[in-house]
Amino acid sequence: MMAGTSVAVVGGGLGGLAAACVAASRGHDVTLYDKNAWIGGKAAVLHEGGFRFDMGPTILTVPRVLERIFAESGRSVHDYMDLRRLDPQWRCFFDDGSRIDLMENVATMAAEMDRFAPGQGAGEGYRRFLALSEHLHGVSEKFFFWKPVQDLFDTIDIRANLNPGTLRDVLSLRMHASVAGTIRGKVRDARLAQMLDHFVQYVGSSPYGAPAVLCAIAHMQTADGVWYPMGGTRAVAEGLMKLAGDLGATLKADSEVEGVAIENGAVKGVRVGGAVVPYDRVISNMDAVRTYRELVGGEVGRTYEKRNFEPACSGVVLYLGLNKRYDHLAHHDFVFSRDPEEEFDAIYRKGEPAPDPTAYLAAPSSTDPSVAPEGGEALYVLVHTPYLRPHHDWSQMLPAYRQKILDKLKRTAGMPDIEERIVVERHLTPADIHSRYKVLNGAIYGLASHGRIMGAFKPGNRSREVRGLYLAGGAAHPGPGMPMVMMSGWIAADALDRDASGTAEDLKAAS
Ligand SMILES: Cc1cc2nc3c(=O)[nH]c(=O)nc-3n(C[C@H](O)[C@H](O)[C@H](O)COP(=O)(O)OP(=O)(O)OC[C@H]3O[C@@H](n4cnc5c(N)ncnc54)[C@H](O)[C@@H]3O)c2cc1C
Repeated sequence: MMAGTSVAVVGGGLGGLAAACVAASRGHDVTLYDKNAWIGGKAAVLHEGGFRFDMGPTILTVPRVLERIFAESGRSVHDYMDLRRLDPQWRCFFDDGSRIDLMENVATMAAEMDRFAPGQGAGEGYRRFLALSEHLHGVSEKFFFWKPVQDLFDTIDIRANLNPGTLRDVLSLRMHASVAGTIRGKVRDARLAQMLDHFVQYVGSSPYGAPAVLCAIAHMQTADGVWYPMGGTRAVAEGLMKLAGDLGATLKADSEVEGVAIENGAVKGVRVGGAVVPYDRVISNMDAVRTYRELVGGEVGRTYEKRNFEPACSGVVLYLGLNKRYDHLAHHDFVFSRDPEEEFDAIYRKGEPAPDPTAYLAAPSSTDPSVAPEGGEALYVLVHTPYLRPHHDWSQMLPAYRQKILDKLKRTAGMPDIEERIVVERHLTPADIHSRYKVLNGAIYGLASHGRIMGAFKPGNRSREVRGLYLAGGAAHPGPGMPMVMMSGWIAADALDRDASGTAEDLKAAS
């Protein structure tokens, strides 16, 4: 390794934290800056009236990514956080009053589906869907994961890999098919298909527009489980912060980076408080598109201004402190819309809040009683909305939409008295998400994964435009969600480390 490689990480979301930990594990001198008063980005926490709410992510999957990040320095993630496996993974409430639990065990789930929708081969359809999902997951591991990818040419080294096996793998990615079409080809019951659609809500995209390769998410969840870190998802951010500190990285809150200093196409440092602080290399965890537009600027920034990037969906979150918990809720619950086509058409095509939305609920008190005063619940209600449009004024829209959400819970989730149980209430709107996290149009999950071919690709982790600049986070490869952004942090730091030690072709990459 080149001695004394200094690295600035811009943004302390989970992607930035993961990058800081991996770069520090590899011996680099790391300083992380975040504009907010806390580190962790969307993995923030709200304490209010004796209740504790995770403000952003709540469903943790693929803990292997965390394990790999901690293993970089010979440590175990389990010494830093107490992860508990949750099964059922989700409880599902449908508009017709029926319910089903999504169980981790495939045989149990298939039998449950046959009971739920008899005589349709639903269980067998689910097994076939998961077999495809497993295959797509395997191909994703081979071509997309743990490496810096921007397009098909990064994925497949044509000279080295052009063989029948690779071609078979690429064709099997089913780039021509959508997630929704693939699911409905295997599972006919409309409610079960609606449930399976929701794996792509983890990446804030429409199942009707997202490429079938994203069906891989289902296998990632069934194979690796759904986990809860005791103390809440915030414990993931805190575990990474502790690891970064143990490895000698410096974490600076309340420190906005105003620009990346660039000379002759190469990074020279970052601008903070009007002055340039010199660094050899920079990893940006700020939204990838906004990094180019606002931190890099110049000709590169103008190119990114002109390119049409579609943000992923945004959302409204209600944080409801209840004086009495609902015993019929599981830890994670989905309260489904009356019509998924109507819902996704509104959010992703018309750009308007859905008339009858799906609500995701986290009711963590059964796993972690410390979230609420005894007998109470820190209920988290998330509804996906379109990314911000110029005419959306959520200060005006929220009261009516809040009521629509509560009415939905009363009607479909067996919570008729919810309003009487609320003793504490706070909200997060798309406008809040936009300003708190400096994202593109209030997007929760970076860029949408729409488009049969390009839906699988995001801006790459090693900048082609600026030498010494790397990208991590939900709007960079491989995409959003906790495991993927932490993987993106690993990839960015790994690419940086290879470049610094001369084992990769960064000059070629940036030329
Ligand atoms: C309501 C909600 C629910 C979600 N639910 C789930 C879930 O259940 N499961 C799941 O896996 N994922 C979920 N997600 C998505 C997940 O939270 C994100 O994909 C992930 O946390 C984003 O991490 P990131 O690394 O992209 O950074 P972010 O969390 O977006 O953080 C980026 C940080 O960079 C900082 N920053 C930006 N610009 C600058 C600058 N110029 N200078 C200094 N600092 C800067 C920001 O302040 C911010 O702290 C959810 C997200 C939200 C909002």
